[in-house]
Amino acid sequence: LPNQEGLAPPLSRSAAAYRDARAVIPGGSMRPSSWFAPHPPYAQRGDGCWLTDLDGRRLLDASNNFFSLIHGHAFPPAVEAIRETAAQGTAFGLPTPYETELAEIITHRAPLLEQVRFCNSGTEAVMFAVKAARALSGRSAIAKFEGAYHGTYDALEVSYDCNPQNWDAPDGNPASVPYCRGTPETLLAETVVLPFGDPKRCREILRRQGSRLAAVVIDPLPSRIGMVPATTALLEVLQEARQRDGFLLVFDEVISFRLHHAGAHSLFGVTPDLVALGKIIGGGLPAGAVAGPAARMAVFDHTQGRPGVALGGTFSANPLTMVAGAATLAGYDEATVDRLARLGDDFRQATNTAFRAAGLTAQVTGLGALFRLHLTLGEIRDYRSITPPPRGPGALAAVHAGLLRRGVLLTPNCSGALSTPMGDSEAALLRQALLEAVAEAEA
Ligand code: PLP
Repeated sequence: LPNQEGLAPPLSRSAAAYRDARAVIPGGSMRPSSWFAPHPPYAQRGDGCWLTDLDGRRLLDASNNFFSLIHGHAFPPAVEAIRETAAQGTAFGLPTPYETELAEIITHRAPLLEQVRFCNSGTEAVMFAVKAARALSGRSAIAKFEGAYHGTYDALEVSYDCNPQNWDAPDGNPASVPYCRGTPETLLAETVVLPFGDPKRCREILRRQGSRLAAVVIDPLPSRIGMVPATTALLEVLQEARQRDGFLLVFDEVISFRLHHAGAHSLFGVTPDLVALGKIIGGGLPAGAVAGPAARMAVFDHTQGRPGVALGGTFSANPLTMVAGAATLAGYDEATVDRLARLGDDFRQATNTAFRAAGLTAQVTGLGALFRLHLTLGEIRDYRSITPPPRGPGALAAVHAGLLRRGVLLTPNCSGALSTPMGDSEAALLRQALLEAVAEAEA
């Protein structure tokens, strides 16, 4: 071999891909690349719950593209449906029967959801639900929960990450804090922020603000604020205020629809006015939907003159998403929902027991097949329980990196989802990697 002394080691394929990307894409990628130091692994292909990166490394994938792949990668019925459909054209300026088929699948499994209208993302779904609530109520303000993520519609991009210095307004209630530069001040006044872990305070705020609200938007299992379920007390406060003040209750089930065969609202025993859907309903392709009782959904009906709310879009209800979604939901029947929920329950329980046995300061929260790691033993109730992050901002990133070194991919905040190709052995791999990565970060 020639003398290589002094030569830089060759870049891995992922490193080279990231270097090239940064020249033409600000930040290098639309994926959360900054969480991976010095660069993210680039995905090459996926098969079930396994992902292979450009350098040939296999990863157990519990990120599942941010909870959107219920069957993992390349689910054969979805791939086959996409292949067959794509060969006949991918988008038309006309309806196709595929949109009715997916709408029927969703409405048949969730009786409250009598009608559906499709869009391209969870962000759009929540946005259209808010627009519908505004049109139906004739009001413009909305309320959301502090720290809860609902995508990038600016009305909801409020108080995602306020810090303790600015998290209360002068009146002592959670402040409406912009997430991004460029959010208009006027918009902040239109978004009321509620504390997820404090039903009593929610009741007080809603007593004062409820009559000016078009909607309260709630994700019943908000991942960014701890992945703990909404309490019965909180849901009762919302229902009582809705009855008194006439705002619409919008459930953001973009992630949580999967928790029950008939959607998360069925699991929580609530009848929202509108439900925003996304992620798994598109079978791995870009998807969103607003669904609800026909009387509410009539606001989108453009055949009766001017619609209350225009929900169209060049690619809405595109044939590929519709057939992939139909194939995916067909494979996610009641028995499968239950099996995955049991696997998730066992996984969380066994992981927490193992953390305790090893004397580690860590716990996993979650519901069904969804989970999130916390580096604290304190009770997780809401955004404020995890802000500022216990053990500092770098601790979770260190665990995330440790997991990756052990061949496990979670979302950047160390949350994840079990998928249907997983069983006890994959859950055990995941648990062992978590134990080792947390222990390493604590050492
Ligand atoms: N709502 C919730 C609860 C989400 O978790 C997300 C995305 O993660 C969204 C809405 C936005 O969905 P999308 O990324 O498809 O726009």
